[in-house]
This record gives sequence, structure tokens and C-alpha cells, in this order.
Amino acid sequence: MSAADLDARDPLAGIRAEFDLDPAVSYLDGNSLGAPPRRVADRLDDVIRKQWAGRLIQAWDDGWWDAPERIGDRIGPLIGAAAGQTVVCDSTSVNLFKALAAAVRLQPGRDEILVDARTFPSDGYIADGLAGFTGHTVRRVDPVDMPAAASERTAAAVVNHVDYVTGRLHDMPAITDGLHAVGALAVWDLCHSVGVLPIQLDGCGVDFAVGCTYKFLNGGPGAPAFIYVARKWLDRFEHPLTGWAGHRDPFAMSSDYTGSAGIGRARAGTPDILAMSAVDAALDIWDLVSIEDVRAKGLALGDFFFECLDELLPSASVLTPRDPARGHQVSVAGTAAQLKALAGRGIIGDFRPPNVLRFGLAPLYTRYVDVERAVHGLVSVQTG
Ligand SMILES: *Cc1c(COP(=O)(O)O)cnc(C)c1O
Repeated sequence: MSAADLDARDPLAGIRAEFDLDPAVSYLDGNSLGAPPRRVADRLDDVIRKQWAGRLIQAWDDGWWDAPERIGDRIGPLIGAAAGQTVVCDSTSVNLFKALAAAVRLQPGRDEILVDARTFPSDGYIADGLAGFTGHTVRRVDPVDMPAAASERTAAAVVNHVDYVTGRLHDMPAITDGLHAVGALAVWDLCHSVGVLPIQLDGCGVDFAVGCTYKFLNGGPGAPAFIYVARKWLDRFEHPLTGWAGHRDPFAMSSDYTGSAGIGRARAGTPDILAMSAVDAALDIWDLVSIEDVRAKGLALGDFFFECLDELLPSASVLTPRDPARGHQVSVAGTAAQLKALAGRGIIGDFRPPNVLRFGLAPLYTRYVDVERAVHGLVSVQTG
């Protein structure tokens, strides 16, 4: 079937109108920075003019102070988290630090942290940085090998749900169970899976998780991240960034810290309301679509990408698994110069050293014609 026919039959095609996108551009980098939902600009206008200008400091009591927990609970259904375990705050890097610090604190006598060997570098840097304070040994292990590599020495392991380079999807239930079998805690990074595929944190018994809102959740550049703490750990979740926003009674201005009874204890400082309001507005889109439909389209877009490559560019070296154990991207070997040439033709992907061209498939707005254009573009830059 042609790309145009596939777009005509796409049940999610209408959702693209929710986004501010130029039809002449094929945007295939929603895995790095999601496209702007139109409703975000309206919401920010409202927050600035009505709430900030209209209510001034009183707006903190009109819903600003509790926004991190409220918006966290809106992300909950997308990650299989019952209410009260997810909060929006800080960056993914900072939240990973908090989760990992709390995890090792729960595991006295264990002296090792495992880190996904192919992780986005920040996660490894954070683990190394924490270990510099705690004295843990950090060992880098492929997620597939983690259950075998973990031992009674392992305090916790950081695993990416979807590998940011290849798009490989890791088996959350099996890896989590394997870690638990030796008493290690599982810290999952959902940056490349949240908003594109169903996730069952509660169902898998995951201990802690973190993720971005500016990738497939379209919250805007640098939008605050989220952190999930499983209910069973909530009252023992102790991290070192004990700022006042995580205090049980922040406005009592006590000189002693007592962490909030709930997920609020994962907060540190004053929430960034403008950025958070953008995330909130972007999440409204989930009232219109289901994660199952989004996942189905993401896999179909990937399959179509592979078909086009097989037909038009059989010499392409594809790094993304063809089976459904993948997220929503297709990675092909290529150069930074090729990426630039593609951008000149209105095809926007990204390049990760040493030789990977990534094309993100964001089912809320990516069209089959975008995939077809990308493959035609690759043909011309790789064989032309
Ligand atoms: C995008 C991404 C991050 C980004 O972290 P920030 O703190 O938002 O810069 C972290 N981890 C992974 C796996 C990512 O893909």
C-alpha cells in the first residue's frame, strides 16, 4: 500500500492537527524533542495572563503548589502506576540521582550498582557521581545480561526500557524479576518508552523509575521530568536532596526536615510552573487517544520504514530490531554530513556518534509519507 493510502486509513491521522507542524517538513526527531501541541501556547497564555498576572502569589494556593503530584498522577496511567506514586519535578538526571541514592540507602551491606552498558551517558555519569560519595562500585552490563550479572552484592541496577541508540526494547518483567531474585532493586529509565508503548510499573513490581516529558510526551524543551516510587518504598524513600518542597509541612518553615508522607518527598525545590503547565496541557492529548492505538501505529510505521528500506535501499545497515521488541525509532548507519543533507530536504532526524542516524516515529503526528520521504532521502544521500 502507498504511504498516502496508509495515511488515509490511519485512525490517528486527525490527531496531527493538534500539533503546530509544517506539512512540508518531515519531523522524525520526536524521540529527542516532541513537537509543540497547539494547546500548549494557549495554556501558557492563560497561566501567565490569568493566573500569574491575575492572582499573583495567591495562585500558589489555586493549584500551583500541588501541580507536581497532580500532573504526576496524569502520567500514572501511561506507565501503569496507581495514583500517588508519580511526581513531576526536576530533570531526569536529577531524579535518577534521587532514585539511585534512595535505592542504595535501602540496601546496606551491598556495594555494587549495575548500569545499562549502553545507556544514554547521563545515567552512567550520575551513577558514577553518586558512587563517588557512597563508595559503591559501578559495573556496566548489557541489560539482557543483568539478571545473570546481579548478585547479593548488587544494591540496584539502572536499566533503560528502550535503548536510545538502537531502539531495542528491554524485557521489563524478566529483568525486574531477575534482579529481585538476588535482592537487587530495579530502577528503570523510561525516557524512550513513555508515551509510545504500554508500561506496567506496578504490574512488574518495579521499585523506582524516571522519565522525560519533553520527548514523546511533547512537554517542551527542558520540561520537568517525573519520578516513580513504588508504594511499598514510599515511607522509606530517603534521598539526599531534602529541599523544602519535599517537606511534610513546607510552610511551617521548621528548621528540621521531615519528608512528606507520600510521593511529595521526592520533590526538592519550588516547581517550575510555566514548564509544568506546558506538560499538563500536552497531556490533554491522552484524553483523545489510547496508548494501545499509539503503540500499534508506532510498530506499523517502523514496519513500513523497514519495507521501504528493503525495497529502495537494501544496502542500508539497520540497527533497530525488526521484531516488536523495539521502541519507536529506526536507526540506520550513516554520517553527520548525511543528516545535514537530509535536513536540507526537510527531513529532520538526528545523529549519534560514531555513525548512527536516528529517525523517531511519534505516532501522534508522524505520517507514513514522512517515513517514505526519509527513505527516499536516505537513498539519495547514501547512494547518490
Ligand atoms: C533523554 C534522556 C535523558 C535526559 O536527561 P535530562 O536530565 O533531561 O537531560 C536521560 N536518560 C535517558 C535514557 C534519556 O534518553
